[in-house]
Amino acid sequence: MYYDFLIVGAGLFGSVFAHEMKQKGNKCLVIDKRDHIAGNIYTKKISEINVHMYGAPIFHTSNEKVWKYVNRFSEFNNYINSPVAIYGDEVYNLPFNMNTFSKMWGISTPKQAKEIIDRQIQNARDSLSYNEDAENLEQYVLATVGKDIYEKLIKGYTEKQWGRPCSELPSTIIKRLPLRFVYNNNYFNDRFQGIPEEGYTAIIEKMLEGTDVRLNTDYKEFVKKYEKSEEITWGKVLYTGMIDEYFDYCFGPLEYRSLRFETEVLKDTDNYQGNAVVNYTAADVPYTRIIEHKHFDVNAAEVSGTVITKEYPMTWDSSVEPYYPVNNEKNSEIYKKYRSLAKENPNVIFGGRLGSYKYYDMDRVIEAALNLAAVN
Ligand code: FAD
Repeated sequence: MYYDFLIVGAGLFGSVFAHEMKQKGNKCLVIDKRDHIAGNIYTKKISEINVHMYGAPIFHTSNEKVWKYVNRFSEFNNYINSPVAIYGDEVYNLPFNMNTFSKMWGISTPKQAKEIIDRQIQNARDSLSYNEDAENLEQYVLATVGKDIYEKLIKGYTEKQWGRPCSELPSTIIKRLPLRFVYNNNYFNDRFQGIPEEGYTAIIEKMLEGTDVRLNTDYKEFVKKYEKSEEITWGKVLYTGMIDEYFDYCFGPLEYRSLRFETEVLKDTDNYQGNAVVNYTAADVPYTRIIEHKHFDVNAAEVSGTVITKEYPMTWDSSVEPYYPVNNEKNSEIYKKYRSLAKENPNVIFGGRLGSYKYYDMDRVIEAALNLAAVN
């Protein structure tokens, strides 16, 4: 059996690419080392609720072409992401907006909120000589949003997320901290937003319709088994796994942060937290957030019981899943070396979040996969 493309990874990138290449008349084989398709956007029905098994990806984009494209594979509901933050016994709306400020300081107008924030920013700049060009995250945040927001809503969460004190983290990981002086809890500014009605796995199933897929199949083992046989042969490879792993870590490993997801089915309540996403911003709570999956879908409101997932950040090593690339100077230098090496063999193309060592939202993944398919 000859395949024009061997696609490593049945995640969103590999599946969009496989779909497009099939449309162009190519024969593709998709392999994935996991026992399911859809990679990190895998959803599974548990107790009649679509459960996001790796965090809770919310589709949002301003790219109309991508929005139309993804809507060919599924209807989307009108879910608007409006997360809530819990700090001790205080509850705040996110992103930082007039609802947050009103709760924090008992004020009601944008003018009052701006005065408090400006005063706190000025204090940080005067007494600590911090400024918005600070390379250290703590100094940068104190100099741009002030002490209260930093201490209650940013510090503990960020330190849990990255496993290091904010004073030792680069400001680049949080460079965008929008303060909104309107009463608007919509987390994203994008024009289009929603959750697929039947879950993300159904989208990937449609994308891969008519394409051969082999699960529980690791690339290196697959190559070892078939490279010298005539049984399966292939032309080009699209690789959406870790680029450093592909090259046997010859320039050293790239670093990641990992996550542990703890999912619980609760029979004794129909509504655990009243919102899909609740962030826990205090340092003494070991998880960063709890997702209650039924709240992504208004149709699930009537289902009895509920399913929640606690998200625990953790140190990455090769025995656990890599989630967030640590894009610091050291890793960027290592990645550049892998990129150069990758260019030497045009028959192997790298893509997706692991192949590009980059945090990618889903709309960007689709855009990049469509662009790649257009030139192949
Ligand atoms: P993946 O989904 O990781 O797919 C890669 C696949 O390759 C995996 O299935 C893996 O098993 C397989 N693979 C790897 N190595 C091998 C190998 N050697 N052999 C065989 N198979 C292999 N995006 C948004 O737009 N909105 C959000 O709200 C959002 N929230 C997120 C929350 C979290 C916690 C995380 C981690 C990500 C979030 N994202 C979000 C990003 C989104 O998950 C990604 O954009 C998308 O899943 C990336 O798809 P991919 O195909 O590049 O990678």
